[in-house]
Amino acid sequence: MEAGGAQREAAQPVLNVSEETPVAGVLRAVDTEEETPAAAGQVVTPYEVSAPVGGIDYEKLINQFGCERIDAAIVDRISCLTARPPHRFLRRGIFFAHRDLNTILDLYEAGEKFYLYTGRGPSSESLHLGHLIPFMFTKYLQDAFKVPLVIQLTDDEKFLWKNLTIAECKRLARENAKDIIACGFDIERTFIFTDINYIGREFYENMLQVQKRVTFNKLKALLGITPEDHIGKVIFPSVQAAPSFPSSFPHLFSGNDQLRCLIPCAIDQDPYFRMTRDVAQKIGFQKPSLIESSFFPALQGENTKMSASDPNSAIYVTDSSKQIKTKVNKYALSGGQDSVLLHRKLGANLDVDVPIKYLNFFLQDDDELEHIKKYETQHQEYKEGRMLTGEVKQRLVEVLSELVATHQRARAQVTEEMVDAFMALRPLPNMFG
Ligand code: ATP
Repeated sequence: MEAGGAQREAAQPVLNVSEETPVAGVLRAVDTEEETPAAAGQVVTPYEVSAPVGGIDYEKLINQFGCERIDAAIVDRISCLTARPPHRFLRRGIFFAHRDLNTILDLYEAGEKFYLYTGRGPSSESLHLGHLIPFMFTKYLQDAFKVPLVIQLTDDEKFLWKNLTIAECKRLARENAKDIIACGFDIERTFIFTDINYIGREFYENMLQVQKRVTFNKLKALLGITPEDHIGKVIFPSVQAAPSFPSSFPHLFSGNDQLRCLIPCAIDQDPYFRMTRDVAQKIGFQKPSLIESSFFPALQGENTKMSASDPNSAIYVTDSSKQIKTKVNKYALSGGQDSVLLHRKLGANLDVDVPIKYLNFFLQDDDELEHIKKYETQHQEYKEGRMLTGEVKQRLVEVLSELVATHQRARAQVTEEMVDAFMALRPLPNMFG
């Protein structure tokens, strides 16, 4: 029986800067005293995710960022429009926030399509489970709505932010592309590109349009960039903005400048796209819509996301079943009690228990998940102490090992030629078919 609970680190807060707010001045500030203890001291930016005891307060994030919650009506609507059951990430509230998703759905209902845009910053040899979340969900959206997808690999970003050479970033981008292709994307509807190879011409023109309309003060507010940062960090947000505009891809969307874009991502990317949405209409495009997920937590708990920057926080898609077992047993924060006796008496604290949170993402069977954690029936197995942490962890190891083994089999089939084919500059004639 494992000890439950763990120390969480104190974190710095970030000040709210919502879309369309004229921004000036300070951007990262101490949260006010009125904040609930759980919400105070929370930081969520593309570069940092941290929260104090209690984990990330997503309700507060929705208010700070000014996005909207995905409710049951939206989930039902997606299910109706696509004539298939909603993905479990939607059913279970993992994709929980959006911007202008209803507009995309209204237009889709009226017969208008859109394109998807997601991405990855190649900072590690392979993806970890957290990175799979947007890709698994994007594949579902692509299949369900039958729409094209552009995937940006920000090798330039990782050169600017990490201690990596350009050559290494380019190599990692190709390796990561193999993991992404292994998620099952349809080559007839998918264009993958790396910034270092692709940026130029129309894409660069859109970057320039963005650069001319975003002040340094605004970037400071949105992203915490400071005058001491190098200028690469100032330019990069325009690189992440440009794929939101269809004319950045003339080989795909020529003459279709008003085509809408939907961006699936975790909510840490929201600041980039608030900036993008602020300028979109000023430069002749529609605002991109967003569908945003919560974070797949670090093994150590919900006060931060699983991140390649901290290898001990992460399970990689290259890990063996043995490595997964070791990581889960050694590092995954348990909500169980310190002794079996106490656990049988008090049950587990599911609010902090990482194995339950991981099962919530990846255990496919809704009934089994409810059986383990259910709150309001006779079957509160783990919460009421009938199931021990060791048993829950064992089930998690099985689920993750199967997921990772399936991914590894798919990844082994991906050749260099396939990477070239996904990255080839080409029209996609049946992308809306
Ligand atoms: P890392 O430090 O692990 O490389 P990152 O944020 O730099 O993290 P990116 O490659 O920039 O990773 O992110 C690619 C996509 O994956 C983004 O949509 C990001 O929000 C999402 N993502 C990254 N980590 C997680 C996570 N732990 N849970 C859910 N989504 C995640």
